[in-house]
Order: sequence, then structure tokens, then C-alpha cells
Amino acid sequence: METARECVRLGARQRTIALLTGLPTSFIFHNIYDAEHLPPRGRPPYTEDFIYRCSLRVQAEVGMFATKYRLLTAEGIAPAQALITAFRHYSSVVHPPSFSFDEAFFVVSNLDGIWAASIRTLELAACRRCGRHHLLPHGAAPAVAGCPYCRPHRTDRAPARGRPHADHRAPASGTDTEAVTVPAALEAQIRSLRTERMFEQLGAHPRVVATLTGASASSDRRASSRHREGPTHVGRAVNLIRWGVAVKTVQRAQFSLVATAYTRLLAADFEPADAVRAAFVHVSAMLPTVEPLSFDRCFEVISMFDARWGAAEPSFDLLSCPKCHASFLASRTDRERAHCPFCALLRTPDKYL
Ligand SMILES: [Zn+2]
Ligand SMILES: [Zn+2]
Repeated sequence: METARECVRLGARQRTIALLTGLPTSFIFHNIYDAEHLPPRGRPPYTEDFIYRCSLRVQAEVGMFATKYRLLTAEGIAPAQALITAFRHYSSVVHPPSFSFDEAFFVVSNLDGIWAASIRTLELAACRRCGRHHLLPHGAAPAVAGCPYCRPHRTDRAPARGRPHADHRAPASGTDTEAVTVPAALEAQIRSLRTERMFEQLGAHPRVVATLTGASASSDRRASSRHREGPTHVGRAVNLIRWGVAVKTVQRAQFSLVATAYTRLLAADFEPADAVRAAFVHVSAMLPTVEPLSFDRCFEVISMFDARWGAAEPSFDLLSCPKCHASFLASRTDRERAHCPFCALLRTPDKYL
């Protein structure tokens, strides 16, 4: 009950407190809130993609909060108390806080696969560039371009307030000073080599790697314009006019999940190459028992979905299924009517999984 009262003081909604403490909502309503602390109205504001939708500055702040939480649990403090302490700490540093206690609760749930989340969908990883910890989709590799702390805040239209707070904690790792002394050109070269290796490790074809890292654009622009203009593909091209029947249902579901994750990552200001890689890793980890996806195929589908990397115009739409509400990829030139792969999987799971 003391935990529940502390949550109330931090502005928690009933549902959050119920999940956190295990107390029934009616009990919370009658015994925990009082005249001074009325229950906030409405459903908790958190949604699955809260973390991907917020600006880089807020992402950095969420990372700072999650790092504190992780330090506390590593010292043996129970998750509920660690959440409360970490959120208090965060709100003492940033006025007013950019995210609510309910959202902090949701982040922790997804980080540890507890309370509101049945599995871990987030993880804390150290940035390859600045060494600070930040949140990533579970199983995704840290972005080469850097984390919310060290990437330029391009889409951050919020006023600059609070910027200094990002430096408040997060011990200097030494890589910051290193970055200053290494000549910029050399640093860029090292970064592109690292990127190439990462794509190679995912099994990407050299031509796909060259397209993703931009190598082909500069070195053989003339050569490629003499060849066909169009998406880079390896092996047979994706069957767009028979997409709904020629591509296996499970694969259509996988491609759809990759496209959804890719879209979210772009919205969170990831570079397209990083987004396609992270989306691929994320979806591969999600479905370990089904036939693994090929990175080259995912790359090709995404390039035709987003009209990028040689694809002149989009060939796919991400439609929302009216029945199951999942987003699925539909080819614009499919001869048949678009149908949702997830509904097919739900109808006869034994056939596919
Ligand atoms: Zn960083
Ligand atoms: Zn459906």
C-alpha cells in the first residue's frame, strides 16, 4: 500500500498501480486516492510505440531514466521501488518531466518483460559512439550513427530547454575525446567499414551492402545508369503481380512486420539503412521458429515499399486490416485483392507455424 501511495503522488493511473502492486482497482480507487490526489481520468497514455514516436531529446531522457532504473535493480532493489526512485530522480532533474510516471512504468515493463508486458521488447545498450546507455528494440544492434544523446537533434522542434540535462549523468566514457582527435574523414571511413561488416554479418549480398552504404552511388554512378534503373535485387525479383499468392503467408507476415518496424524507426529519426537493419534483426528475433528471413529480400521489399535505394516509386502499401487491425504489405500491382496474412495465420496456425 505504501508503494501504491507513492505511485499516486507521482501521478500514476489506477491501472498502472494495479499492475504494479497487484491490488484490485476498486481497492485502489477507494483506499489509495484521497481528496488531495484524485485519480487521473482516462486510460493510461502509453502505447507500444511511445518510445519510437517521441523526439530524440525525450528518447535521451527516457534512456537516462532507464539507466538509473537498471543501476538500482543491479544493486538488488525490487523493480517497483527502483521505478519509483528512478522516476523521482528523473523528475528532480528535468522540470517539467517530458514523460509521465505511467510511461516510465510502461518502459520498465517492456525492458524487463514484467507488469504490463509479457515479453521484453526493449533493451539498454551502450552507444558505439559516445558510450552512453540508451533504449533499443530488444535484439537490435546499436545504430552506427549514434544514439539519442550524440546524434544531431534534427526533428526535435521542441524549444531547447532541458538540453543541458542530458549531460547531467552518464559518465564520460573516453570515446568523446577520441572522436575529437581522430580526423573526421578517417572516422567516417571507419564508420562505413563497420557498417559494411554489420550488413555482411546479416548475410547481405555485396551489391546490397554497396547500395546501403552508398558506395555504389559515388563510385559507379555512370556504370549503374547504363544498366537498368531500379531496385537492387539478388536472385529472382519479387513477384509483385502475384504477391498475395506467390509469396508464402508466413513470409508476407514477416515482411509486413519488417515494414511496420522500419516505418516506426524512421519516424524516430533513424537513418533508413539503420532502420532496415534494426527492423530485420527485430523481426528475426521475434519469430525464431519459422523459416528465417533473408536480409537481401527484406532490403528489396523495403526499398520498393519506401521508394529508396534505386526503386523509383513505391510498389507496396502498408494497409491496416479491418479485421485484426494488423498492418500488412500489399503490392500495388497485385492482380488479386489484397488479403491480410495475419488473419490467415490466425485461422489455421497449424498450417503455417
Ligand atoms: Zn551516443
Ligand atoms: Zn488481419
